[in-house]
Amino acid sequence: MVEITELKKSYGDKQAVKGISFSVAEGEILGFLGPNGAGKSTTLNMITGYLSADSGVIKIDGTDILQDPIKAKKDIGFLPEIPPLYLEMTVLEYLNFVYDLKGCKLPRKQHLKEICEVVKIWDVRNRLTKNLSKGYRQRVGIAQALIGNPKVLIFDEPTIGLDPRQIIEIRNLIRMLGREHTIILSTHILPEVQAVCDRIVVINKGEIVANEKTEDLINAVDGSRKLVAKIVGPEDEVLKTLRGLGGIKTADVLGKRDTDSVSYLIESQERIDIRKPLFYALAGKGWPLIGLEGVELSLEDIFIRLVGKEKENEDKKTKKGGK
Ligand code: ADP
Repeated sequence: MVEITELKKSYGDKQAVKGISFSVAEGEILGFLGPNGAGKSTTLNMITGYLSADSGVIKIDGTDILQDPIKAKKDIGFLPEIPPLYLEMTVLEYLNFVYDLKGCKLPRKQHLKEICEVVKIWDVRNRLTKNLSKGYRQRVGIAQALIGNPKVLIFDEPTIGLDPRQIIEIRNLIRMLGREHTIILSTHILPEVQAVCDRIVVINKGEIVANEKTEDLINAVDGSRKLVAKIVGPEDEVLKTLRGLGGIKTADVLGKRDTDSVSYLIESQERIDIRKPLFYALAGKGWPLIGLEGVELSLEDIFIRLVGKEKENEDKKTKKGGK
């Protein structure tokens, strides 16, 4: 549905996007993930036709955005990071305004009502946008993207600045929209892509460093899991047992909070689930395991690992080239 090939963009002599290629299949929700300054907005602005690329091809449902920009743009609904709202208009006035701007041909009243019902803003349709909460404003922003029923929806950081309840509502809404639309969701929040997206493209310094199914990416970078185990038993012996257990890479004392238990940080070897062997080993010794928690990887950890892996590969290449 969206096909991007060798896309490049520089600002002066700063290369912001360095020849990236990826595609999004029909009905897929793609997470576009990267740290600040990675090139996400630049890429999205090129896909939506707001910014012209230096080179490369963007096709929306087979239409080249350069050759037929009007047709290509009709297939895209965009929610920028700051929704383009007119605060002095009521919700319905604003949606009518966007309807005209887009030159939408669908039956006006029915189409706008349907959209308002989907994003749940029909009750506030006659309120001034400036009097709406941030969560509702974001819904209005999503509503304007839906006008014309575009095949592709692009959301740039749609949950930024919302409270936790609003975040869940907007994520659920995006997931629901994903049943009928192809979606690109740009974000720097990992749990967000985990919750919503089928696949993740990670961009860093203008280059793609990963393009995988969500589960595969999380497993690949999180292959060696870290656990915190709270164990009652003689510290030195427990540590020796842990370090002697097959599948454990490292084990260290993390701290002592309760009177009789000690917390240990355990890292298992790649793709090994250490929890059961750990339980049996401790039970065999008569040392109660009173707590076991996974240490969640942060987005920073994932970037460091991905970028680290890239660097390793580069180093290998350089070495080979040098021989
Ligand atoms: P992201 O959306 O991932 O935060 P951007 O696409 O906004 O990244 O920016 C990518 C790089 O291009 C950054 O280094 C940024 O400083 C630079 N950049 C973005 N917009 C401009 C601009 N208009 N002029 C010059 N440099 C820019």
